[in-house]
Amino acid sequence: MREALVLVLLAFAAAGCGAPDRSLPERIIVFGVDAADPEVVAALRARGELPNFDRLLEAGFAADLLADEPLFSPRIWTSIFTGFRPEAHGIESFTLPVGPEGKRVPVTSNLIRRRTVWDILGESGITVGVVGHWVTWPARPVNGFLLTNYTWPPTEEYEKEWSPGADWDTIGMRTFPEGIAREAVDAAREERFFKTADFPNADRLDPALRHYLEKDLAYLNAAFALFDERKPRFFTFYLEATDFFPHKLWMFHRYYETERFGGSMEGLPAPPAPPPRAVVDTFGPMVAETYRLADRALGLVLDRVDLERDAVLLVSDHGFRTYPPGTVLHVGDERWTEMPFWHGERGILFAGGGPFRKGTLEAPVRPEDVTAIVLAAAGLPLGADMDGTVPEGAFRADFLRDHPVRFVESWEKSVLGDEAPIESPFDERMLEKLRSLGYVH
Ligand SMILES: [Zn+2]
Repeated sequence: MREALVLVLLAFAAAGCGAPDRSLPERIIVFGVDAADPEVVAALRARGELPNFDRLLEAGFAADLLADEPLFSPRIWTSIFTGFRPEAHGIESFTLPVGPEGKRVPVTSNLIRRRTVWDILGESGITVGVVGHWVTWPARPVNGFLLTNYTWPPTEEYEKEWSPGADWDTIGMRTFPEGIAREAVDAAREERFFKTADFPNADRLDPALRHYLEKDLAYLNAAFALFDERKPRFFTFYLEATDFFPHKLWMFHRYYETERFGGSMEGLPAPPAPPPRAVVDTFGPMVAETYRLADRALGLVLDRVDLERDAVLLVSDHGFRTYPPGTVLHVGDERWTEMPFWHGERGILFAGGGPFRKGTLEAPVRPEDVTAIVLAAAGLPLGADMDGTVPEGAFRADFLRDHPVRFVESWEKSVLGDEAPIESPFDERMLEKLRSLGYVH
């Protein structure tokens, strides 16, 4: 802990020299929207349902993001935030076997073999706020704050945490610094920015989906409360509803889209008789509703930045789509199975603001390029050892003239990454969630 404090203090000292460069963003924000799919986004934008996505794209570029199979969220998000491919950063899957009986434990932050982009920015004197991302528990010290993915895990303990005076921190290291946990819980309990009741028909969701929605909203409420309070220069947060709603409701979504907007049920078995109207009207719009939720969160971001100068990235790890009958997919740890719908290979990267060129990138970007883009936008060098690069056409020519892409040999300082994940009392419920999505047996 003492060592971490010294590092943070050194970073502050480094930040103190020199006046701020007005040609660099004051804020860089990365909004992670799991499974946000380019075709779903395009359909909703065409109907004017994602006005803040439009605002962002008027100020920058859109690109497809292509990850390598298997399309597992933890491995792709870790590439997004380290600049390295899974072989290098070490997070390949959802769980790892531990002990003689090979008990599977969810992957944890101690396994990651490379530094994260917020480690590098923090060391360079940039304050950071990190909320809700995969593989961030146990919390490692940062130059700012971090809410791990176990801040609100899918557990029964979660409900207890809402009652004042509850023993909130049952496992430890769920946030950094640990003292911000209370602020986060308060903001979540008060539903300061997002209310469950505002999500249409939330009361009709099955308990698991409702639970995950509430967890997402808790993170969003805490994210914006902490952002407003601490104003980090780099801020990143995460939404998962756009992944688990399609896993559960894709059939309803496609049926509703086809019926209302002339979409297509191609590849999906048509129901033998039309499903009850009330069911279609309740569950049909819900996948789109999670995108509208993402749009509202993006709106709060855009209200807090100056797009003339700042940089805002919206990124997904993969998309979501229908597959032709008979397609066998690698859907989880040692799991291959035939699925009519699942993660799609195309995700998105939308980047708007001062540093970025406007338009569409012809070539897809890779997950690890996101770290390279963030470092370049901050005026910092990339690691020459990184797999990620700055994509052609991403930055404005005048920005690159003032801040050419530079390299250091490496940002790595020491050997990182343990062999085994850290077990927690939440493991069984984490595994239950992964099972419900088909990711583990
Ligand atoms: Zn994902």
